[in-house]
Amino acid sequence: MSKKIGFLGLGHMGGPMAANLVRAGHDVVAFDPVPTAQAQARRDGATVVDTAAAAAADRDVVITMLPNGKLVLEVYADLLPAAAPGTLFIDSSTIDVADAKAAAALAVGAGHRALDAPVSGGVAGAAAGTLTFMVGGSAEDFADALALLEVMGGKVVHCGGPGVGQAAKVCNNMLLGISMIGLSEALVLGEKLGLSHQSFFDVVSTASGQSWALTSYCPVPGPVPTSPANNDYQPGFATALMTKDLGLAANALRDNGVDGQLGTLAAEIYTRFNQVEAGKDFSAIVTDIRNRSDQEGA
Ligand code: NAD
Repeated sequence: MSKKIGFLGLGHMGGPMAANLVRAGHDVVAFDPVPTAQAQARRDGATVVDTAAAAAADRDVVITMLPNGKLVLEVYADLLPAAAPGTLFIDSSTIDVADAKAAAALAVGAGHRALDAPVSGGVAGAAAGTLTFMVGGSAEDFADALALLEVMGGKVVHCGGPGVGQAAKVCNNMLLGISMIGLSEALVLGEKLGLSHQSFFDVVSTASGQSWALTSYCPVPGPVPTSPANNDYQPGFATALMTKDLGLAANALRDNGVDGQLGTLAAEIYTRFNQVEAGKDFSAIVTDIRNRSDQEGA
């Protein structure tokens, strides 16, 4: 059934997500302050409005896809009073668990309903409608949102109550960052010890050190031809985004009293790398480890 949707944040991810909703027959009213994003949304068939509040008026569902949690909370302050009572707010931005809980509480406090629904799958997944949605909120609101999320996603998982979708995202990406660093250190150690990348791959990909980072996203060229390493580390998943997500993970570790030494260190390592290679794929961390090793060994 066609829904009336407000969509805010028409960037790399939100633009194609909104386009998929239009394509599926939904009535999409959209807002983004950037003129090029507005123009693309118009070409995609959305109705573009001039203010955030106008995108929330008379909508069944309001979806936000914004850069950070501070902005989500600011934008909610404009959206919530403008929306009809009982509107379902879905925030798909990647933000702090604490901000996600605060946003949901604000929405519910204003007489609305709320889900956090961050995604993985990147720009390619957004364009293809194959994102994975990790959803936090009530079972009832999840059931209401499911068909809509399935337009934009290939897999939609109800993870728990408010903020728990963000929790799933932050746990997964913290583990990915740690495992990419660990794998890269092992690869560089192998290089120093005379182990070729292919031999490393042939052994480790079926041994106890196996990981997604190795078998699907190998950070050195050769063994996995589709990985960004074969394309001069063009993202993929940019270092800037991994750095952001590890910052959220470090916050969550600290806020929840977890002795997360590797997660905290991974955030520090990527923060440093991000200062020089923000636009490269995050798997390029292997080049940094190699360069620093050469310097230290010299
Ligand atoms: P982006 O910077 O390309 O897009 C964000 C958009 O929000 C921009 O177009 C910006 O103009 C718009 N915006 C800013 N203020 C606004 C406001 N007040 N109202 C409406 N729109 C506003 O970022 P992105 O890559 O699309 O990422 C969006 C979110 O998705 C982030 O939280 C990011 O961490 C997350 N994410 C990104 C990826 C990825 O691969 N790019 C993957 C998974 C999750």
